[in-house]
Amino acid sequence: MRVPGYWRNMSFLYRLAGWKCVHCGAFHHYKPVVCRRCRSKEFAQVELPGSGRLIAYTVVRSPPKEFERCAPYAIGLIELEDGTKILSQLTDFKENELRDDIRVEAVFRRVRINGEQGIIEYGYKFRPALSQS
Ligand SMILES: [Zn+2]
Repeated sequence: MRVPGYWRNMSFLYRLAGWKCVHCGAFHHYKPVVCRRCRSKEFAQVELPGSGRLIAYTVVRSPPKEFERCAPYAIGLIELEDGTKILSQLTDFKENELRDDIRVEAVFRRVRINGEQGIIEYGYKFRPALSQS
């Protein structure tokens, strides 16, 4: 994500918010022209719940250049309490803690350092919830 992309995603990164299709409920990080799932043009701004469960995850060992310093890192597909599914980087876990279906919660973390401009980018990542009940 270069700087323009980063700013475009600010409401998602800082508030865990985005746009939900009024017709089919698909979640979009920023307001699209048409829904990628149903082509509807009606969207409502939503704030997402900060917790959910991990549906699936993958550990990235050979990342794109801009994320090299973070490797290895884990990306999870998360289903939030309201049913919204999002992809997010995972953090604060021990490798043996990651399993499908564990509860996860959002935390605010440094996402990466943008090498060219030296900008430190912050945003949400998800970690295993302290309470797994
Ligand atoms: Zn839709």
